[in-house]
Amino acid sequence: METSAKILDGKFLANTIKEQLKEEVIRLKKSLGQVPYLVNIMIGSDHSSLSYANSQKKAAEHIGIHYELTTLPLETSQSALIDYIKRLNSDPQVNGIMLHKPVPPQIDYWLAANYVEPLKDLEGINVANIGKMILRKTNIIPCTPAAVMAHIQSTGVPLRGKEAVVVGHSEIVGKPLSLLLLDQYLTVTICHIATSEAGKLVEHVRRADVLVVAVGKANLIQGDWIKKGAVVIDVGINQVGNQIQGDVEFESARKRAAFITPVPGGVGPVTVVMLMKNGIEAFKAQILKG
Ligand code: NDP
Repeated sequence: METSAKILDGKFLANTIKEQLKEEVIRLKKSLGQVPYLVNIMIGSDHSSLSYANSQKKAAEHIGIHYELTTLPLETSQSALIDYIKRLNSDPQVNGIMLHKPVPPQIDYWLAANYVEPLKDLEGINVANIGKMILRKTNIIPCTPAAVMAHIQSTGVPLRGKEAVVVGHSEIVGKPLSLLLLDQYLTVTICHIATSEAGKLVEHVRRADVLVVAVGKANLIQGDWIKKGAVVIDVGINQVGNQIQGDVEFESARKRAAFITPVPGGVGPVTVVMLMKNGIEAFKAQILKG
């Protein structure tokens, strides 16, 4: 008999987490008389960036967090941006700061983003937070890896000792995610372009009890490579004609996997909520610091 994977519905998971965060914000407001105040800095204002910021705003409003979008002119210089970030760092009202990507070519994203005070680093990408993550000394975790972990943990599948394969080793997804999987005692293999060039991607993917693909190439992973019963998390976003697709051949993969995320509607909606979770963690860390 042909089996079919359970679809991991990102909107459902995002709504569940949003309700938990809403409760937490109500408790914080009762005890401290304050709610987190987050600022997203956007340079220029293209349509897709504004629409992404709008989904962040909606999530924040639902949870009860104050969210402000600041748009700076497209020609903003690196030094003007850094001055602006410094002002927000020293503003006691502001609890979380993020620099929206993409940025125009005159801006060095990583340099500017690292001016954000670590306790206000909403996206968890500041070198201080990445370092603390390795030491397991922070609750501010990069949002997409955190969303992937939330999906994996929502399956209830025991993880200890299982084989995890992460395809893609970017600074914002693959690398931090590999650490989070390691922290759950999975045995982690990280694949990248050279794995594919060596013709070895398929043999690693076939071993994966937990497979996470974050590359940005439609149909990179063929359905018949998937281990029967695997948990498959597809982070990829690819515009194919007028459709958005992931990196995994969805229809054939779902016949072998036990759980699989759809694209769109899988990792994306949870990523937005993880940004809000980081905002709450940043707020709490600042209160504790006094
Ligand atoms: P990057 O382009 O920064 O990284 C892609 C990674 O894939 C690199 O490590 C690259 O290796 C590797 N790679 C490229 N080609 C191959 C191949 N043929 N085989 C194996 N590995 C390969 O992308 P991101 O990590 O930023 O994003 C990955 C995807 O996830 C994109 O589609 C992006 O849109 C999506 N995304 C989705 C999010 C969400 O919330 N749903 C959030 C963030 C990203 P190398 O560097 O060595 O070339």
